[in-house]
Amino acid sequence: MKILIVEDEVKTGDYLRQGLGEAGFVVDLARDGLDGLHLALTEGYDLAVLDVTLPGIDGWQVLQGIRRAGREFPVLFLSARDEIDDRVRGLELGADDYLVKPFAFAELLARVRTLLRRGTKAKEPDVLRAADLELDLPRRRVTRAGQRIDLTAKEFALLELLLRRPGEVLPRSLIASRVWDMNFDSDTNVVDVAVRRLRAKIDDAFEPKLIRTVRGMGYVLETPECA
Ligand code: CA
Repeated sequence: MKILIVEDEVKTGDYLRQGLGEAGFVVDLARDGLDGLHLALTEGYDLAVLDVTLPGIDGWQVLQGIRRAGREFPVLFLSARDEIDDRVRGLELGADDYLVKPFAFAELLARVRTLLRRGTKAKEPDVLRAADLELDLPRRRVTRAGQRIDLTAKEFALLELLLRRPGEVLPRSLIASRVWDMNFDSDTNVVDVAVRRLRAKIDDAFEPKLIRTVRGMGYVLETPECA
């Protein structure tokens, strides 16, 4: 498995290269955005770790270049705590995950492995789970703590989206485009209403609560394992 790191901070870049190398990956390290994009488009990678703030072109421009060229390998963003808008934008542009600096290497490694598994997964699971919630895809059936829960088609699609990306903050605009197949640029209220209804059915009468609101960003499904 080959990983591209684009990181201008010398210490962080070296630390990531060493850590991922020791974990058994083949690692290339670029120190600025243009070098990173060039490598991303000329070498074959299984995953890229992109810093947001880079000299030359920034991380999201690198990501845009990667996606425009039709490269679909997973991309994990690294961002500083004050770059929340960047993270949202990155996810909308097709980033697969992000980590806020400073982070523990073990956390990064776990996410890298999850993304790689997702990318190489041969068969889709039939049942998605979080805590005692189960969503059975072929039967279109949802249960929590063994109790059958009736959802509308949109609520089902919304829950499926959240369950497929546990621990990941999904911006309202992304939810609107995936669940309603439309762009709700101004009116993402429809997302809030749908989430409220979904919560009333799957969370209100149960513990732990699974859907969390991230103010100014969107929604995340958190399980005890990923919280
Ligand atoms: Ca940087």
